[in-house]
Amino acid sequence: MKYIGVFCSASAEIDPAYYEATRKLGEWMGKEKKTLVYGGADLGLMECIAESVKTNGGRVVGVVPAILEENGRVSSFPDEIVSTQNLSDRKDYIIRESEIMVALPGGVGTLDEIFHVMAASTIGYHAKKVVLYNVNGFYNGILAFLDKLDEEHFTRKPLSNYYYVANTYGELLDLLK
Ligand code: AMP
Repeated sequence: MKYIGVFCSASAEIDPAYYEATRKLGEWMGKEKKTLVYGGADLGLMECIAESVKTNGGRVVGVVPAILEENGRVSSFPDEIVSTQNLSDRKDYIIRESEIMVALPGGVGTLDEIFHVMAASTIGYHAKKVVLYNVNGFYNGILAFLDKLDEEHFTRKPLSNYYYVANTYGELLDLLK
């Protein structure tokens, strides 16, 4: 995998453990000359992953909706900024340009991105997967709910067809190599 989409928190108030996990992934991506495709804002884990990929030799592509460009929160780390009209075409662009997506801990923006990837795959728009990086069990609640959807027949195929879970850094790298 060379092109890796990353979804992650825009908040700077979160547990330092999430920053540490983000930095470690970014360092590996940079050293392995991966291309990061992400939201492009200078906020929270987004700025952390961009800085660590860039300063370790990787390439960074920020995909930024017009409204966020106007607010002036665009990071200075990207090698390339791609402007989109809105959040929806941004998600589609990130999916198109990435071979796989990783969801680090995040809020509703990240959850929207995870579910967009999965929902689009269930109806055949693409066949790419999102990795839920379950740092310190962050995604356990969502994973339990996804299992409930399968158990109660809200799904055609088991939802595990559309995502991976990485419980450790080692498991994450195995999925990205
Ligand atoms: P959240 O998880 O709610 O903190 O939102 C972060 C995710 O949504 C990131 O993966 C971004 O792609 C997107 N996002 C949310 N807010 C912003 C913002 N201010 N600038 C850029 N992207 C954002």
